[in-house]
Amino acid sequence: MLLDLDDTILDDTGGAPQSWREACWAHAHLMDQIEPSELLGAIDEVRRWYWSDAERHRLGRLDLDAATRDVVGMAAARLGADLGEATTLIARDYRARRDALLRPLADAVETVEWLRASGCRLALLTNGAAAPQRRKVERFDLARLFELVLIEGEVGYGKPDPRIYERALDALSAAPEETWRVGDNLEWDVAQPQRMGLSAIWIDRAGKGVPAERDVRPDRVIGSLAELRHSAVLDAP
Ligand SMILES: [Mg+2]
Repeated sequence: MLLDLDDTILDDTGGAPQSWREACWAHAHLMDQIEPSELLGAIDEVRRWYWSDAERHRLGRLDLDAATRDVVGMAAARLGADLGEATTLIARDYRARRDALLRPLADAVETVEWLRASGCRLALLTNGAAAPQRRKVERFDLARLFELVLIEGEVGYGKPDPRIYERALDALSAAPEETWRVGDNLEWDVAQPQRMGLSAIWIDRAGKGVPAERDVRPDRVIGSLAELRHSAVLDAP
């Protein structure tokens, strides 16, 4: 089984709205042209646009500090303001707050432990820069659970590049048809692995189902990783 990290094992994005709100209000004294609430609104629009493009996403996730500064700067510019040095301060503060809020999803680590104890051979495949992703693995003591940890920034390529899945299959000496991919991203964790012959379990935390405009069909859909322990999800189809 090839497992995803962010928003599969760790609640990576859950702290984002609170972190943005607090970072904007904490620097209200440095904004003379705009209100923190206006900046927050503009940031919400800009960050949706920023992360919607695959190539911008790839470059951004490999340097989150720069990407975050870009988002704050673009949001201010959208309001006709230039925050100067406060741009960097807000971005840095946001990243620190979000990092502090990072924690494992309920029962997720215990589920990985259960999978391992059940004899399932496990690899962790995560996108993002080497240092911050490796810090997450160490902070939550996750490496002990996996035969293999592949981080985009360490390997030099990431999901949905076929090489990252092939590398994991090779290292585990596993055939695609006997391998599950589990994650929350419909393209990276479902569509691309399926094209390569793997079965894919999609984690739909919002419970909204596959968006109507997507023609992706996960082999299984669960609301959280913990569901793997409490259902027949892994039984043969
Ligand atoms: Mg993820």
